[in-house]
Amino acid sequence: ALPLRLRNVRKVYRSGKKGVEAVKSMDLDIEPGELITLLGPSGCGKTTTLRMVAGLETITSGDVFIGTTRVNDLPPSKRNVGVGFESYALYPPLNVRENLAYGLKAGKRVADPDKTVDELADRLEMHDLLDLRPASLSSGQKQRVALARALIRKPPVLLLDEPLGHLDASARQHVRRELKLLQRQFGYTTIVVTHDQLEAMTLSDRMAVMDAGIIQQFGTPDEIFDDPANLFVADFVGEPSINLFTATVVRDGGRTMIRVGNDVLETAAQNAPDGAEVTVGIRPQDCTMKNVTRGLSGSIFVYEDLMEHGIARVNHPAVPDKPLVVQTPAELQLETGQSVTFSAPPKRVYLFDKD
Ligand code: ADP
Ligand code: MG
Repeated sequence: ALPLRLRNVRKVYRSGKKGVEAVKSMDLDIEPGELITLLGPSGCGKTTTLRMVAGLETITSGDVFIGTTRVNDLPPSKRNVGVGFESYALYPPLNVRENLAYGLKAGKRVADPDKTVDELADRLEMHDLLDLRPASLSSGQKQRVALARALIRKPPVLLLDEPLGHLDASARQHVRRELKLLQRQFGYTTIVVTHDQLEAMTLSDRMAVMDAGIIQQFGTPDEIFDDPANLFVADFVGEPSINLFTATVVRDGGRTMIRVGNDVLETAAQNAPDGAEVTVGIRPQDCTMKNVTRGLSGSIFVYEDLMEHGIARVNHPAVPDKPLVVQTPAELQLETGQSVTFSAPPKRVYLFDKD
């Protein structure tokens, strides 16, 4: 496996006189054999980044290194990458088996291509597709074949753009697990592009959360979940979404509190001046109602029992029109209208600048 490095990489698309800066000065260091995801909303520059690494798009400025080789000026076929893009063409006259074997042979001589194809087809549960032609495949089936084609040559670097997007829920779970196992087994250095934060959380060694052509944070799923770098990351990652509301900072000796209506809550955040208006973020998963003496008090608006846990939506008098979401243990049963008080550990009460 090879390391992958991006240094100051930019992409400006020219359309007429105007330019669109799709990727702005991106730095990224990926370890050999590491799987990272690029996660972000539609249009943030994920596909553009991947295409520049693959050699399918010119790099406006900056450098891409695969291993120790600067690959900016190398064609895709010389970059040691396997690519799986949505638009990646299969040859229509060939059936799936022939398509996969063709991808294999284009690389190097293989003793028994059929055996290699069969093994991979087993892993991805796609034996029933091998005799079919591309035209008769559903979009989900095409996606599996495209993934298999990217994997079959065991490339040192694997680049996948939304590889699971067209699969139904159960197929997605299976293929996601196999992808991760194959990646571990063969040690491909891998970039997976996705807009699905759950997929990113389950697949990634580290994830790069992107917005507007910029990496907002790069870290392990735990680091990103537990210590979001800014409001965008806090809001984009996590399901159910983080609670965000306005509050006032109260410095009390060495401690920092936030006040919302009549309630106060301690935060471990530093650097917030007394009296400042801030946006507070608290994750539903970090809230507790157990043994709470001081916290946020409100009344239950809706309670959902989801078996493994509950989700309570709590109306707070100082947070208008937006119930606060609290994840509760399964054994708790709550009624609409019931009064509750909840809090979160100070380290999990995040403060962000109000914009
Ligand atoms: P993502 O994959 O995150 O959805 P893209 O990399 O496809 O984002 O696009 C990033 C930005 O670049 C968007 O504003 C998009 O409209 C623009 N863009 C993408 N491809 C082109 C192109 N070929 N020409 C001009 N603008 C483009
Ligand atoms: Mg895209």
